[in-house]
Amino acid sequence: MKQTIKKVVILGGGTAGWMSAAMIKKLIGSIVDVELVESESIGTVGVGEATIPPIQLFNTALGINEAEFIRETKATVKLAIKFENWKTQGESYYHTFGAAGKSMAFCHFHHFLKRSQQLGNKANLWDYDLNYLCAVEGKFAKINSKDPILSLPYAYHFDAGLYARFLRKFSEKLGVKRTEGLVESVNQDQETGDIQSLVLKDGSTITGDLFIDCSGFKGVLIQEQLNTGYDDWSHWLPCDSAVAVPSERHEKTSAYTRSIAHAAGWQWRIPLQHRNGNGFVYSSAHYSDEEAKALLLNNLDTKALAEPKVLKFKTGRRRKQWHRNVVAIGLSSGFLEPLESTSIHLIQSAIIRLIQHFPHQGIDDSTVVEYNKQSKVEFEQIRDFLILHYHVNERTDSTFWRDMRNMEIPETLSHKIKLFAESGKLFREANDLFLESSWLQVMLGQGIEPQDYHPIANNMSKEQLLDMFDKILKIKQEPLASLPEHDQFLANICRLNNE
Ligand SMILES: Cc1cc2nc3c(=O)[nH]c(=O)nc-3n(C[C@H](O)[C@H](O)[C@H](O)COP(=O)(O)OP(=O)(O)OC[C@H]3O[C@@H](n4cnc5c(N)ncnc54)[C@H](O)[C@@H]3O)c2cc1C
Repeated sequence: MKQTIKKVVILGGGTAGWMSAAMIKKLIGSIVDVELVESESIGTVGVGEATIPPIQLFNTALGINEAEFIRETKATVKLAIKFENWKTQGESYYHTFGAAGKSMAFCHFHHFLKRSQQLGNKANLWDYDLNYLCAVEGKFAKINSKDPILSLPYAYHFDAGLYARFLRKFSEKLGVKRTEGLVESVNQDQETGDIQSLVLKDGSTITGDLFIDCSGFKGVLIQEQLNTGYDDWSHWLPCDSAVAVPSERHEKTSAYTRSIAHAAGWQWRIPLQHRNGNGFVYSSAHYSDEEAKALLLNNLDTKALAEPKVLKFKTGRRRKQWHRNVVAIGLSSGFLEPLESTSIHLIQSAIIRLIQHFPHQGIDDSTVVEYNKQSKVEFEQIRDFLILHYHVNERTDSTFWRDMRNMEIPETLSHKIKLFAESGKLFREANDLFLESSWLQVMLGQGIEPQDYHPIANNMSKEQLLDMFDKILKIKQEPLASLPEHDQFLANICRLNNE
């Protein structure tokens, strides 16, 4: 007989645990109790500070006040990621959250751009992207224009520790019960295999109907207990380690993340209000941990504020992210390196998916199968997007980059690359997190130049086309002069909340 779900137990109080607790209590707290157990002796992974724009939907659904959020988590605005040395050493490009130009009927803007460039237009894609222009100038304001050509989509950088603390306060206010304790063993139903309760070090037990495993990389419930297995993708994404260190802030806070490629990995810099977050993601086959630490410390441009911390991971995903009465969310569900800041988003979408599939009348197989199917597709689409950054490169300085270029890639990705290279055609897969504009920027940025453009772009005369591009450029550049500095925006919004 199916068991009605009346109590949800969350194991883990990192970003995944507290995001899950907050949203479940907020949206379905009227039908379920929520208890979260975490152990301060284990702590959290302590990284995860760059996000993508859908986080705003998450915050809005929770009813979080943006000014309070920015102040409490020491957040800054993120308009883009700047990829440096990825295509070749010395070259860089931006992957912005905006879409260049304007949307055109039946045919993407970049086809028209290509024709205009063949006719002498010297501007590139990013010159028509307000996100790029603002990121470079260090400007930001919330633009309320109804005209989509002037939209300025953004996300945040925030302090991971402060974010978890912020959500904990928020969740406890809503009625989430928090229990401090180390889970030492787990009771399982002998017949069904379902988890019945968690046993803490002090001998107490926590019972529940549905368990959310947010216990981090080891997956205490989903893997150590239920042994669901892991799809290992490290042959495509061989970086398996990271070293992270905070450093002093810059005088001027940039509104983008930096991703700087090195001989066998890449370095991030995330600007926060009070410090920078820095890290180096690397392949342990190419660097020892000590070499990685040294590389990171030698490539900081402000003073380190702590000892570097090493983290180990395996890229891939849990084969079943929902198994029996356990749903894995966060690092326990799989890991894709933070190149496009997708982990916190994967937490968000897993929570929303779980709520959409919520088994209030009891768990049935079809719900679990559907949930697992959707999460598999989502992970695979992001995986392909990340592989694109590595595979399409022109670096000649190391075996790592040559190997990445020569490796066999998933069929789904090679098809996409071939289609774009031959014809400039680019289509969003169903529900792919990354829109055409994202794929376009990374494909061009990494060095794929399409051989053709769509003939619809020939429907305009040369004069009409160049005139249109002139006008779009002016429209995009016009707001810049009146927009405040990013730091000014942050100061204003933080003050707003204090008053
Ligand atoms: C190097 C690196 C950089 C990253 N950068 C980004 C980024 O820029 N953007 C992004 O979106 N994501 C990023 N991520 C991912 C992001 O950090 C995680 O997705 C996020 O922090 C969620 O972690 P978590 O809550 O799943 O796990 P954790 O933070 O590890 O939390 C696990 C929790 O489980 C508890 N726990 C574990 N075992 C037990 C037990 N036996 N008993 C009781 N409690 C237990 C711990 O105490 C802790 O509270 C990065 C990850 C890494 C490794």
